[in-house]
Amino acid sequence: MAIAYAGAISRLSDPYVPRNIAAAKIVGTGLVSLLADVLKGYDIELVTVVDGRLRIVVQVRNDTAVCPACKRVSSRVHSRYWRSLADVTAFGLHLELHAYARRFRCEDRGCPQRFFAERLPDIPARARRSDRVTTLLAYTALGVGGLPGRRVARLYGLNYSRHTLLRAARQVVTDSPKTVEVLGVDDYTYRRGVNYGTLLYDFSERKVIDLLPERSAEFLATWLRAHPGVKVISRDRGGSYAQGAREGAPQAIQVADRFHLMQNLGDCLERLAQNGINLKPVTPATEQPSEPPPPPSAPFRPPSRAEQAKAATRQRRQSRQDLIRDLVQQGASISSIAATLHLNRKTVRRYLRGVPDNALLRIVDPYAEFLQRRWKEGEHNGRTLLAEIRAKGYAGSQTILYDFLHPWRANDGASRRAPALRSAPQTVSPRAFRRLVLMKVRTPDEESLLACIASSDPFFSTSISLAHEFARTVREHDASAFDVWLGAATDARLPDWKAFADSLRHDIEAVHNGITLQWSQGPVEGSIHRLKLIKRAMYGRGGHDLLRRRVIFHLPG
Ligand SMILES: [Zn+2]
Repeated sequence: MAIAYAGAISRLSDPYVPRNIAAAKIVGTGLVSLLADVLKGYDIELVTVVDGRLRIVVQVRNDTAVCPACKRVSSRVHSRYWRSLADVTAFGLHLELHAYARRFRCEDRGCPQRFFAERLPDIPARARRSDRVTTLLAYTALGVGGLPGRRVARLYGLNYSRHTLLRAARQVVTDSPKTVEVLGVDDYTYRRGVNYGTLLYDFSERKVIDLLPERSAEFLATWLRAHPGVKVISRDRGGSYAQGAREGAPQAIQVADRFHLMQNLGDCLERLAQNGINLKPVTPATEQPSEPPPPPSAPFRPPSRAEQAKAATRQRRQSRQDLIRDLVQQGASISSIAATLHLNRKTVRRYLRGVPDNALLRIVDPYAEFLQRRWKEGEHNGRTLLAEIRAKGYAGSQTILYDFLHPWRANDGASRRAPALRSAPQTVSPRAFRRLVLMKVRTPDEESLLACIASSDPFFSTSISLAHEFARTVREHDASAFDVWLGAATDARLPDWKAFADSLRHDIEAVHNGITLQWSQGPVEGSIHRLKLIKRAMYGRGGHDLLRRRVIFHLPG
């Protein structure tokens, strides 16, 4: 055993010195004098390196301690015990502080506290690690999350479970600042369609200051009352934040921010594209000349619930049909398909009816010309046609003929029932339409597509120019032009635009502020993206509290 610095180790009686300390290596005295400056109130007894751990053994310098119950000073040591405290690493060595702590007997005989342990300077009662470690664990967990945080902490020689990291994170004080002048409010999805929360952003400090577990007027109002002094509230145009802001901070100026105004415009475009379903094909050549023009009133009618259900059924049927066709092509028999899909064999056959089985259909070929002529004459009755070709010598089955006729019928039916659907593959989806109209820069192709849509119908040309003018007034902060725009949108006699203009009028003060004032919700939206990233990295675990802490956490400095 070799000890370079032993201080008052002689005061320690042998049984208390752990065996691994007894097997100590030499550590220089320079380090010890340095430590003496840091560890105020302690006598340094021993500094050793054992198993890659730098151990510092200390005793409290004071000979007396104060009883926590009666506050009398006692000098009667009753017993001693070891307390160990893990600290961050030094030179890659795990740092451990071992204090040889004393238990005192209270000198007041009447005191209910007969014995008490001395308090260690700068070390909280019962702490097993230094505040430095706890802070590091907490910040790591807040920064990267529990499990990855655990791995990061291990690189620093801190081997703790993710639960310990998260517990440390939960103890970090995260009060939002008392005063905020310019507040951004936006909602975020906690679970889509189930619950939403509210993100609060401080524009002057440029950071998220709080997350509320709901997106209701009530929660916002409560928060605003607890944080008086908000002068400007930038928000979306949903009613509940407007109401919450009115209730909680009636003095504040409300701003319907430009980001959301543009989003509302986009939604309006998408809606009217949906309602005016037949966005024209890209190239006029692909248009069916026989296609009747949609009745002028049709474009403005939103699809009814029944129509939506019908579309869903059609979709389902289509995908099932595709599946069955694939199976047949792979060589599956009808009865095996029926068994696999839990369908009746007849049903499977019905799905296959549209599938041209060329070998079989060839039987009909000799009669194709005749059938075509009869079809054009208006004879669409399968039985009649069957009887007619049978008379001419057709030996095939009724099903084969029906399969043969099916594409004709499908075309015929489509043009009778829903002319819009037939050109669907060449049309522009409502979402694409929205994007196309709102783009700031377009390629020549996109430009000509937009021109093509505009020229297809005055409904679209009006809508596109209304949208462009709206976007211009918002981007250029042109409030007076905006008022003119409101009039134009109403005068256009298009229900979607009128509804949009009305909703803007309803909130006109905030909308005007949004157009004229400088605040932009951009950074708030950025924070929402960051929130989503954190939320997803948590894999849906961790509740609102942890999410809130992680989102509003910023490393000091
Ligand atoms: Zn006492």
